[in-house]
Amino acid sequence: MRTKIAVANGDGIGPEIMQAVLKVFEANNVPLEYEFVEMGKSYFDAGHSTGMTAKAKETIETLGILFKGPMETPKGKGVKSINVTARKVWNTYANQRDFRTLNGVDTVFSKAGIPINLTIIRENIEDTYGGIEHLLTYDVAVGRRIITRPGSAQVIRYAFEMAKRKGLKKLACGHKANIMKLTDGLFLETFQEIAKEYPEIEASDIIVDDLCMKLVTRPETFEAIVLTNLQGDIVSDLCAGLVGGLGFAPSANIGDNISIFEAVHGTAPDIAGKGIANPTALLLSGISMLRFLGFSKNAADIENALLYTLEQGVHTGDFGNKAIPASNTNAFTDAIIANI
Ligand code: NAD
Repeated sequence: MRTKIAVANGDGIGPEIMQAVLKVFEANNVPLEYEFVEMGKSYFDAGHSTGMTAKAKETIETLGILFKGPMETPKGKGVKSINVTARKVWNTYANQRDFRTLNGVDTVFSKAGIPINLTIIRENIEDTYGGIEHLLTYDVAVGRRIITRPGSAQVIRYAFEMAKRKGLKKLACGHKANIMKLTDGLFLETFQEIAKEYPEIEASDIIVDDLCMKLVTRPETFEAIVLTNLQGDIVSDLCAGLVGGLGFAPSANIGDNISIFEAVHGTAPDIAGKGIANPTALLLSGISMLRFLGFSKNAADIENALLYTLEQGVHTGDFGNKAIPASNTNAFTDAIIANI
């Protein structure tokens, strides 16, 4: 019995890396069936204000799982991010990003023998991402930051549950409650309240600037960190850098009814269409989607093949041993398939 999911190829390198990941899934006989949906920048340009057609929205809401490639958001006025809209429309309130050292992906820490394995849980809907901004005068722009107790509680509870499920010992709350006493203060207060329900997990809090410093000096001391939306966005890209870059950063947007799995990186317009993109982040996102759907054996088989391929030194141009020629997306994908 195959599980049907919605798939959106995305923009830029999206179609290239999605094709690579689905090829790996096919080679492992993953029991999934795909319904490709019309979603992305071209649909926004064609007049669909959410960046997707009504049919795409209906399909995603029926199937409950969206596996998506990155989607373009032009900078500046008048254009809403399709990614942010999708997260909001479906209340995917928790953004989980897992970062870990991968053999074959050299970083400052892997070279020093310091393994990293940490999870960032970012609140995904509130904060400044409401985009509630206006010009007070020609020279003064004002933005509103909204943090609610229920919105904070649902993501913080998700973070504690995730920590419990993974058998983690520690969960930290990153914040700036020393300055933003009401907004970050509310998030921190909610964290401290919910922490009482999980005495088996050591709960601590840390000011976000100190957190950034400690992440780049002692990343191995963290297991999981929950943050508000904007701070979580920035800190998670920092963590991607710790494990080798955006090419290795997967993400899951979890809601009660709909969940979206995607890479952390964007459409990489500078390399789009060249066939050289690294599909690893989307593949890691796909692996976490397989686990979420209960296909643990497929997830483990594919993950082992990916890890072995990286250990063999096979790499795309954005990482790896420069002495070994870089593979293009197809050759990298075929090497993973050969190792399954
Ligand atoms: P980006 O992540 O697209 O690219 C940053 C750098 O990383 C570029 O040099 C790029 O070539 C490289 N890179 C990213 N992914 C790579 C991969 N898989 N393989 C090899 N190299 C890779 O960030 P950006 O340039 O700031 O954003 C481009 C567009 O993507 C923007 O329109 C932005 O809004 C959008 N975006 C979408 C998402 C999403 O869909 N979730 C996330 C971030 C950015």
